[in-house]
Amino acid sequence: EKTPVTLLGLGAMGTALARAWLAAGHPLTVWNRTPARTTPLAAKGARVADTAAEAVAANTLVVLCLLDDSSVDEVLAGTDLAGRDLVNLTTSTPAQARARAEWARERGARYLDGGIMAVPPMIGVPEAGGYVFHSGSRELFERHRETLGVPAGTTYVGEDPGFAALHDVALLSAMYGMFAGAAHAFALIREEDIDPTALAPLLADWLVAMAPAVHRTADQLRSGDYTKGVVSNLAMQVAGTPTLLSTAEHQGVSPELLTPYFELMRRRLAQGSGEEDLTGVIDLLAH
Ligand code: NDP
Repeated sequence: EKTPVTLLGLGAMGTALARAWLAAGHPLTVWNRTPARTTPLAAKGARVADTAAEAVAANTLVVLCLLDDSSVDEVLAGTDLAGRDLVNLTTSTPAQARARAEWARERGARYLDGGIMAVPPMIGVPEAGGYVFHSGSRELFERHRETLGVPAGTTYVGEDPGFAALHDVALLSAMYGMFAGAAHAFALIREEDIDPTALAPLLADWLVAMAPAVHRTADQLRSGDYTKGVVSNLAMQVAGTPTLLSTAEHQGVSPELLTPYFELMRRRLAQGSGEEDLTGVIDLLAH
């Protein structure tokens, strides 16, 4: 017997989640502000609720996948959450998630937050490697672990309801740094007779080869010794930055994506940290 699920929000992500639960045989009740989006799911066996309140009343497990935290407010206003297991997969900040957990508790609901590390085509496709960070009620997570694991993998990161959002934002922030670096790389070759589709595999492999450096960073942060296992020290790396900057200038490319990081490297070096790894930059970021 599969756990019945109520799902509020049938955008691109909500629809993908709905399809995955239906395909796995979970009874599913859906609601969406714009009713037309329920039609294809009804054809696949979903029960369509006329109101959010009716959808919430239908099942104990209530999953939200709305645009943002304020849409959660709008949708849940006037619903009776007493005794519900609320799982909020709407992207929010850690502070919003903590406030939402408290808000749910005041209304008699258990609360689990979630941050989805996948795009809709990865949902219901286990080999795509997408997963959802969860934090908040461990009891709720354990109770619904199997059901929550149907659309994508699950990674529980702690009782603090803000931790899922914090992990989500940490990973996305690192991703944008990577995209920024790739944008600069493509800009450098753009005016030359170099095929971007020839650069792409080199770039992808290089980023993958460099990625494990984060383990060394974590090790150094934990030990407090930023020279531990250092491969290329800060002094050497700062000495190399003019090569990157003058190449950018020569290619007619703005260095603006690189300079903030280089500036932090220089400041750390000026503190007498030439023998360290790049880890000291993290100290400079703390206000
Ligand atoms: P969409 O923009 O496709 O859908 C937004 C959903 O929120 C729709 O169901 C929309 O209803 C509903 N909504 C928006 N505002 C309100 C409101 N005021 N009252 C009621 N309902 C409202 O977004 P996604 O489905 O892509 O994203 C949903 C969540 O999933 C977001 O928090 C997003 O950050 C997260 N996510 C999305 C990813 C993606 O790649 N798409 C990846 C990872 C996370 P209506 O149909 O009526 O407009």
